[in-house]
Amino acid sequence: MFDKLWTFHCGYMRVPRGFILDGGGFERILLPFMGTLAHHTERGPVLFDAPFGHEGPSSLGRVVAGVLETLGLEFRAEWAVVPRIEALGFRPSEIDHVFMTHLHVDHTGGMKSLAEPTFHVSREEWAYARQLGSIRAAAEGYTPDDYRSLEERIEPFEAPDPLADDAEARHEIWDDGSLRAIGLPGHTSGHVGYELQFEGDRTVWHVGDAAFALTQITERDDFGYQPEMFAHDLSTAERTLEALRRYADDHPETMLINAHDHERAERAMDGPLALIE
Ligand SMILES: [Zn+2]
Repeated sequence: MFDKLWTFHCGYMRVPRGFILDGGGFERILLPFMGTLAHHTERGPVLFDAPFGHEGPSSLGRVVAGVLETLGLEFRAEWAVVPRIEALGFRPSEIDHVFMTHLHVDHTGGMKSLAEPTFHVSREEWAYARQLGSIRAAAEGYTPDDYRSLEERIEPFEAPDPLADDAEARHEIWDDGSLRAIGLPGHTSGHVGYELQFEGDRTVWHVGDAAFALTQITERDDFGYQPEMFAHDLSTAERTLEALRRYADDHPETMLINAHDHERAERAMDGPLALIE
């Protein structure tokens, strides 16, 4: 079982609200790049996504980095994934498992900075990401330099059926029932979320980038123009979001987390935010 949960940002931008939320206009809101650390009672600290290493978003490439700079991307070395893990009282070498929701660059930048964990990625995401040539990779938001050299530490798993097709489909990661992958495609072809079981019968879903704002699930706010620019398949992303809304209606007690929520990031500006402790 898991017993503790934190989320932290590795950098952020301020983007027009309409980028995230439909009809949101041009007022700027936070777009954070967040990692999540959960503590497992037997396996120790487990990381979900690795946004930036010590070099920050410079791995993004010239064009993307230039655009992000214009939008005011903020990064400091002490926000990188390794110092964030240390700030939570863990040694990076204690991290044996990193679970990737997908391999977009703002989730992979810190992978190489971690000692020697196993990186868990859905088979479909890995197959897609590893065959991309450099131009297509850049156009689609992937930086193969972040993960190509880690090939022998990547452990692809068979992603379950998409949530939208089979509400019960889960891939059990470990045999203790504490962690399951859920197919949440659309944002990328092999995008997954994770269901974590905590002590005290609490359930947490990490939905990755299936929703950029959690109110898109809980309040049915519509997508802004972000998915039109970045989603691998917009109609699949919309089907996934609709399935998440149905799930949340049926399970209001489940805590939802994602990688870019602006409201939660506001509470994590001064350091990692404890969600369960
Ligand atoms: Zn993404």
